[in-house]
Amino acid sequence: MVQEKYNNIIAQPPKSVELQLTYCCNLHCDMCGQWGKSGIFRENIKNLRNHEITIDAWKNIIDQAAKWKSRINLWGGEPFLKKDIFKIIKYIKSKKLKCSVVTNGVLIDKYYKEIIDSKLDKIFLSIDGTREIHDKIRGKKGTFDKILKGINSLHDLKRKKNLKKPYIEILCTINKDNNKIIDKMPQVSRIFNADKLDLALLMFASSKTANDYRKEFTNRFGFLPKSQNGWILNKTGVNGLKLSEKINKMLYHNNDIFIKTIDNYKTISFKKWYAGSEYRFGFNHCLSPWLRLNIMPNGKANFCIDFPDYIIGDVKKESLSKIWNSEKAKIFREKYLKDGPLPICNRCCWLYNNYSRLIKEWKHEG
Ligand code: SF4
Ligand code: SF4
Repeated sequence: MVQEKYNNIIAQPPKSVELQLTYCCNLHCDMCGQWGKSGIFRENIKNLRNHEITIDAWKNIIDQAAKWKSRINLWGGEPFLKKDIFKIIKYIKSKKLKCSVVTNGVLIDKYYKEIIDSKLDKIFLSIDGTREIHDKIRGKKGTFDKILKGINSLHDLKRKKNLKKPYIEILCTINKDNNKIIDKMPQVSRIFNADKLDLALLMFASSKTANDYRKEFTNRFGFLPKSQNGWILNKTGVNGLKLSEKINKMLYHNNDIFIKTIDNYKTISFKKWYAGSEYRFGFNHCLSPWLRLNIMPNGKANFCIDFPDYIIGDVKKESLSKIWNSEKAKIFREKYLKDGPLPICNRCCWLYNNYSRLIKEWKHEG
């Protein structure tokens, strides 16, 4: 078991370094923990860009990650809004590291040539439904077609240059708007000519779980967290039982496209997942604090990318190695090992990963 290697408060170098290039986004999806109705960045839009670190600071981070041979994942907000993104990708590739980007895809049409030119390994493309459903979730008509146009241009250029990369993995988060048409997603993936379809379960927290998190976090670390506010949902609007029947059929009846859902899905009741956020299905060891380091747009570092309450260091003041095993990082790991997951972990997909599979994927695909 990969878990057994991760019981020490001092960690081996991370396998993945996530660079959150910007908080800015060109969409405002309702369910987004960052930019949704109660998203955590809404109140502070003006200041977000002022504190972004420079391209030289990003390069410095990449130099340090290269010594670890970590895979680098770029995300945001919307990372293609960052004007230096192609310089950053080229720099990562010049260090022979695998590099992926998580994107809403809207800017691929504008940048497909630069993407190919940068030698990017993989694109995680967020597509949440058929044309109509996707545009409804994104809150902007024409979004689906704009992404499709960009992806088609990207594939055309890949074909012309005889390239396999960047691989395209579609990320579809199952929510109240798309659960009934989830069996259409293999067809959608074919339209985008994707290499993989990932059907992700919804991340959320009921008011009770959010409150439990607030208390438990404060108890452990001595200050109040606030990321939970962007994820509160008391009714998911998803019938988990019907969903699991649909997904079971899909996994076995679509041989031409690689479809995955949450790892260990056979041991997780989708009915309970979507009914509330209290159950943890016996999963108690998230390896993120041992395997993944996230650098936020302002240079601060953390483990839990979607719940950035606990900061373990700052690249403006310390090296990555110092941050990775800083006192704060060790305290987080120690308390995690002693007291177990935090209530917010209950519906965080990272708790449920099969990390052996994930590490292989990072190594081969980026
Ligand atoms: S595209 Fe992504 S980051 Fe932007 S608002 Fe939607 S979910 Fe949030
Ligand atoms: S499961 Fe918990 S510890 Fe792991 S990344 Fe999510 S919030 Fe952080």
